[in-house]
Amino acid sequence: MNHPHINEPHDHALDACFLGPYGENDALLEKMMLEFLRDHVYWRRNFHPEDPPAIATATAQHPDYLAFESRMRRELHQLSAALKKSVPFHSPRYMGHMVSDLLLPGLAAQMLTLPYNPNNVSEEAAPVTVDMEVQVGLQLARMLGYPHDPEKPACAFGHVTSGGSLANFQALRLALSLKAFPVALRAAQVPELGLPDEDWEAFNLPASRVIDLLEQWQAWLALQPGHERHRWQQRVQDARIEQLGLAAFFEEHPTLRVPVVLAPVTAHYSWSKGMKMLGLGRRQLRLVATDGMRMDPKALQLVLDECIRARQPVLMCVAILGSTEYGTIDPVDAILDARLQSRARGLDFSVHVDAAWGGYLATLFRREDGSLRSRKDMTGEFRTFPTQRVHAAFAALADTDTTTVDPHKLGYLPYGAGAFVCRDHRAMALLAERADYVFHRTTPGSYLQRYRNLGQFIPEGSKSGAAAAAVYVTHKVLPLDHLHFGRLPHATVRAAELFLACARRFAREISEHLHVMVPFTPDSNLVCVALNPRGNTRVAVANAYVRELHENLRIDPTRPLQLKEFFGSMTSLQPGMLGPHETARILDALHLDLDSLGDHEDNDCLLILRHTLMNPYLIDHENDISYIERYFEFLGRRVRMLASLEMAAAS
Ligand SMILES: *Cc1c(COP(=O)(O)O)cnc(C)c1O
Repeated sequence: MNHPHINEPHDHALDACFLGPYGENDALLEKMMLEFLRDHVYWRRNFHPEDPPAIATATAQHPDYLAFESRMRRELHQLSAALKKSVPFHSPRYMGHMVSDLLLPGLAAQMLTLPYNPNNVSEEAAPVTVDMEVQVGLQLARMLGYPHDPEKPACAFGHVTSGGSLANFQALRLALSLKAFPVALRAAQVPELGLPDEDWEAFNLPASRVIDLLEQWQAWLALQPGHERHRWQQRVQDARIEQLGLAAFFEEHPTLRVPVVLAPVTAHYSWSKGMKMLGLGRRQLRLVATDGMRMDPKALQLVLDECIRARQPVLMCVAILGSTEYGTIDPVDAILDARLQSRARGLDFSVHVDAAWGGYLATLFRREDGSLRSRKDMTGEFRTFPTQRVHAAFAALADTDTTTVDPHKLGYLPYGAGAFVCRDHRAMALLAERADYVFHRTTPGSYLQRYRNLGQFIPEGSKSGAAAAAVYVTHKVLPLDHLHFGRLPHATVRAAELFLACARRFAREISEHLHVMVPFTPDSNLVCVALNPRGNTRVAVANAYVRELHENLRIDPTRPLQLKEFFGSMTSLQPGMLGPHETARILDALHLDLDSLGDHEDNDCLLILRHTLMNPYLIDHENDISYIERYFEFLGRRVRMLASLEMAAAS
């Protein structure tokens, strides 16, 4: 057998990045943890060295002390024992969900920071880590191609959230605020701003125009005498959607309707949650058809045409950079083009990128100086990545309004680290909780100052400063360009390309037993595999077969982990999402009967295996092992065993 993985270059720069599948870097982590724990203790002792120790040394022998200690140790041992049932994310045998080993700098920074317990709600509770969080926003902005110089007025801003879901909610909140603000200015009859004559027009201004208006309004306000200033501020405040609520706002503006949000059918369920949370209602989430699980620009155009015809406002269009189930990347460039055309016809909306999964892939496209790499620059590094389409999507990120990125996914950081980034921070004034602060003219260079009261702008209140420190330190150790952080996605995209080659070889080798296909050529590092036993034409039977295979690949909390050789996940292809053309193409390739789809609840969709390839050690150069090849050998063994069981049952 030939070993395609032998050609994979070994990147030694990655050797010290993680604790490692075997805990190879244990001494390094131990040394750092001990050093920084001691450091923390010295800090306590040196705060006011004149204060004597409050806990007597002799108390360590007291029965109550000892009783507490033993209870604590007992419970900790139980916890530690129970945690051995955890999912082995660190292992290259794990290819299930969007998680892998943790980057050492982030893990160490998080653990180092925990005993200081900073609360990033404001600088008063986090004098150090709040600035780090704002810096994280700038680091991510640079990775995406947003302006990131805080000395300039139009600089991006970003903050850490508990996860991608909350970052998506924040994007909805900001888009609604921007859209509705000019309508409030009109309602308050603020003079001298050159406001549009109609609510519809005011509700459809480009974000850049709204930000200009906001700045003009603030400048105008600053010129008013004190009592007048307060009165005008109140007038505008009273007309804002945030003050009135959706019901009263739309009652007062009868020519407007609750706006819709457009997202591809592949959208993560956080979008449905977000619509409910904002009170926009799920009905207002319009799912746009895809072509090969990537938003179809023609379908988007039809929806936009319909909205223009019906005078239906659109709040935002979501582009997904790496869909959760299939890893597919939407044509961000085409979505921006569609917006330009729509804008010319009077319908405007914001473009948000849900890059919770794929955000860090942008590091592959960034040079050290922050400029964008051309596709030609990247050839030779991969087999096919990035396709023209994928490159165009990443190149277009710079022109979008807001983005969600999850450091706790492809950033290899502990949970509790999502991120929201907006291209022009001045819009954030509209989200500020305290109005007097909103309309306070900012002095130049006060960017950091302003965001030290983070709690004013974010959906959360108290939040972990340790999580922000972890992201910040990681980005400092591994800057977000192709020569540093980019080496990680580089290794995993190559692994995914290898996985694809292995899947195709597997399809040939197992063809006596199975029809195997990769339903969508992967855009990055998530690969799905569809299969059907040879001779079968019924979807229900194929699904039962995939379920049976997945039984051996899934976490079963009641059984020892070690019984499992590999971990993968399962997802479904729904005809409603695929569209008739794609459904027919895939079922055809699997020799499945189209009529056997959807007449029953166990066959209303096609089950497929899904593999997230983000473990950095899928190819073990030290021992010349490819866990990807081993996985397919394992699948092959399972398939042959199931076939022989079937034969035995039949005879
Ligand atoms: C994971 C994911 C989310 C949600 O992120 P959480 O961190 O789980 O809240 C949103 N969108 C996409 C595309 C995702 O992959």
